[in-house]
Amino acid sequence: MAAPPTFDVRLTHAHMITPNVKELHFVRVDGAPMAHAPGQWISLILPLEEGEVRRSYSIASPPRANGTLDLAVTHVNGGPGSTYLHAMEPGAALRAIGPQGLFLRTPKVGPSLFVATGTGVTPLRSMLHAALDAGETHPMMLLFGVRTEEDRLYKEELLAMQAKFPNFHAEYTLSRGSDAWQGRRGYVQTHVKGLFEELAQGGATPHVYICGLKKMIDGVRELLKNDMQLPRQQVHSERYD
Ligand SMILES: Cc1cc2nc3c(=O)[nH]c(=O)nc-3n(C[C@H](O)[C@H](O)[C@H](O)COP(=O)(O)OP(=O)(O)OC[C@H]3O[C@@H](n4cnc5c(N)ncnc54)[C@H](O)[C@@H]3O)c2cc1C
Repeated sequence: MAAPPTFDVRLTHAHMITPNVKELHFVRVDGAPMAHAPGQWISLILPLEEGEVRRSYSIASPPRANGTLDLAVTHVNGGPGSTYLHAMEPGAALRAIGPQGLFLRTPKVGPSLFVATGTGVTPLRSMLHAALDAGETHPMMLLFGVRTEEDRLYKEELLAMQAKFPNFHAEYTLSRGSDAWQGRRGYVQTHVKGLFEELAQGGATPHVYICGLKKMIDGVRELLKNDMQLPRQQVHSERYD
């Protein structure tokens, strides 16, 4: 297989979207379109003082002809890569390699349950925008686990998508919600079965797309396999660690 291409990206603007997640907007320096498949990621080569490191980031935006792309990066305490990206100033450029990855969704395949924690939502955001903007009408549900109310990244955007597209619905679950929180609580694992069964009511077996840290993905996969006997080919996942 040919190595994925290398290209330069320039940071145009960036802002915090939760207390520890920064959204970074880049544009390809060569002006080429950002022709990735929704779900794919790029490697960034980060020129740290102690030497170059590579870190991977899922592309949070759908493919765009104008060569722009969005990333959403969680600041990991003491983490060199995410600290570097959070400190980057607009105008700075980086070398990128990609797009890469096989966490893909076949369009119009039937109902889909998307399961994410934290910035694991980014490839799912790309898939959802691409599918809904292309007019896909199959039911799609996002089950999104974060810690607290203020960690609900993309809250307004997801609400707007839900209002615009009747076949899309987003559900947050908070592991450390305040007393005032009236929505779902606990880990995503608690809610997967109920939402899956709701989606399956139309008669077709949903596909499940999971993204986040290994512990959550293993938990959801185990549940789908052992408690729900969902065939492996219906389950797709991407791990960040
Ligand atoms: C395919 C792929 C796509 C990825 N996409 C994203 C993305 O869209 N956004 C993003 O923020 N990260 C993403 N990551 C993780 C990213 O590559 C780095 O691991 C992360 O930024 C930490 O790097 P660091 O140098 O700051 O910390 P390091 O010192 O390398 O620490 C790594 C540790 O941080 C933890 N960690 C890694 N990612 C996260 C996270 N998102 N949230 C909480 N803890 C984390 C893990 O426990 C890991 O062991 C992705 C990883 C992979 C493999």
